[in-house]
Amino acid sequence: MSLQEQLKELSTLDAHVRGLSRRLDLGTKRKAFQQNKLDQLEQQLAELRDQAKRIEAHANTLEQDAKAAEERTEKLRGQMNTVKTNKEYSALLVEVNTLKAEQTKTEELVLEQMERVDEHKQRIAELEEKIAEQKKLVELADKEVDEAKSEVGEQLDQATSERDAAAGQVPDDVRLLFEKLNSDTDGEAVAGVEEQNRRRMEYTCGGCFMALPIEKVNATITKPDTITQCPYCHRILMVSDELRSGLAPSK
Ligand SMILES: [Zn+2]
Repeated sequence: MSLQEQLKELSTLDAHVRGLSRRLDLGTKRKAFQQNKLDQLEQQLAELRDQAKRIEAHANTLEQDAKAAEERTEKLRGQMNTVKTNKEYSALLVEVNTLKAEQTKTEELVLEQMERVDEHKQRIAELEEKIAEQKKLVELADKEVDEAKSEVGEQLDQATSERDAAAGQVPDDVRLLFEKLNSDTDGEAVAGVEEQNRRRMEYTCGGCFMALPIEKVNATITKPDTITQCPYCHRILMVSDELRSGLAPSK
């Protein structure tokens, strides 16, 4: 088997492996996507709960302030009953009125904060519902991955060992080049030479569709044990048997 034929076979086996693993990859990617979404929702929930806790604590402090103001007012009212002069009475009255105004303001703030707590609780409940739904999606994706594994897993192992065996037949430097090109081109390391017009000697690369210099075409045909790469996309060039026999020098 010529190097070119070995590479052609390797390429076919590799395509099979890629096809099988694509299904697994798709499932794994989908699962990662859903899991990521779940993580984000859970983070949002933690933040909301934290905010709600802080607002509640603030509301509690305000409530205590209001209570303290109330107690102080009561005390001053008691004093008002025992004062002897009008002047003292007036002074106490001013203080009571100020305290009452402050208390009213604080109580309004408490209400405001409690409303915010309620809003947060509502949002938390909604988010918890969303999270429960998202968890189902993650479970589903998980199941899909397991199914794909059990369906293609065995075939994939078989195909992989066949591919690896074929790769083992190819010289190391060629195999490394093949693998690098394969990963750059998503599994298209080799490309066929395509004949556009024989009389005008027009040939293109089957990978990038650029016109190939005729000496590249000749090298691909006459040196099947040497690597000839497309000068544009660097794919390893191959010729079909028809093209080779059609173009082989007649003399
Ligand atoms: Zn090319």
